[in-house]
Amino acid sequence: MLSKHRTSGDPGRIDLHMHTDRSDGRFPPDDVLSRAFAGKLDVIAVADHDLPNVLTPGVHVRGARELRVIAAAEVSGSHAGRELHLLVYFPGEMPEEFRAFLRERAKVRAVRYDAAVAKLGFSDLAVADEPARVGDRSLTRHHLYNALKTGGHVRDLREGFALLGGAGVVPLIELPFVDAIRAARAAGGLTSWAHPSLVDAQAWTSTFVAAGLQGLEGVRPHVDRRTRNGLKVIAEQHGLLLTGGSDWHGWHETPLGTFAVTGERARDFVARLDHASLQAGLATAARPAPASTPPHSTAR
Ligand SMILES: [Zn+2]
Ligand SMILES: [Zn+2]
Repeated sequence: MLSKHRTSGDPGRIDLHMHTDRSDGRFPPDDVLSRAFAGKLDVIAVADHDLPNVLTPGVHVRGARELRVIAAAEVSGSHAGRELHLLVYFPGEMPEEFRAFLRERAKVRAVRYDAAVAKLGFSDLAVADEPARVGDRSLTRHHLYNALKTGGHVRDLREGFALLGGAGVVPLIELPFVDAIRAARAAGGLTSWAHPSLVDAQAWTSTFVAAGLQGLEGVRPHVDRRTRNGLKVIAEQHGLLLTGGSDWHGWHETPLGTFAVTGERARDFVARLDHASLQAGLATAARPAPASTPPHSTAR
């Protein structure tokens, strides 16, 4: 139970990265919360793509269990022509200025979705609906894939993402990644680069730290030992937190709670989040650093 963990200063089992059906996850927010309880997690953060948090931050209670929800979002930006993702966490409520910022980002996604629909050229693909156009939900490549599948234009995920991966089909989100970091820090958020590859992290961490990056999401499922150790070394070199999460979307069999961060890393993150100095995190020192062009993307 969290209360027991709390008295020992141990936050328990934490998962700082999951999605609901407000972006490209499968289940509604309340369902995700129930699954987090069932998965015996103690601290969670729902980080939907470019959306304000959907669950009330703070401690939720069900029966004898307590579970702490952290307000979060996953913001898409671009760097050197590539789409990158930023996790942003808040110690309490997500400030209204940042909620407004995210709603604008979600509106940009609706425009991007419509541009992709036009580019694909199938007459039966619907354009963005009202909730997407006003920024209440965010449209992703997954939604495009679903539309293609429903229309019978592709047979499976592989075909779908091959089609969507074609040059210029899905426009690049133009927000510079460093601007996403700065906006998050200006709003008092704690920033962690979502699922960086080792090559990207080696090339760009200095640049992003200069913009205010505070963490790397280095603890996650299906990461090989070399990458995990490499990210740990980079985090140590730059004084960054290592954050962790499952990036659970609910589309596969694996239940929420199968993956959890525990021990020192979980404690470090929660302590940092709770630290009052976070509120004063406004620094964005401009330090020039080299950029290069690595491969591979996990863009949504
Ligand atoms: Zn992501
Ligand atoms: Zn994600």
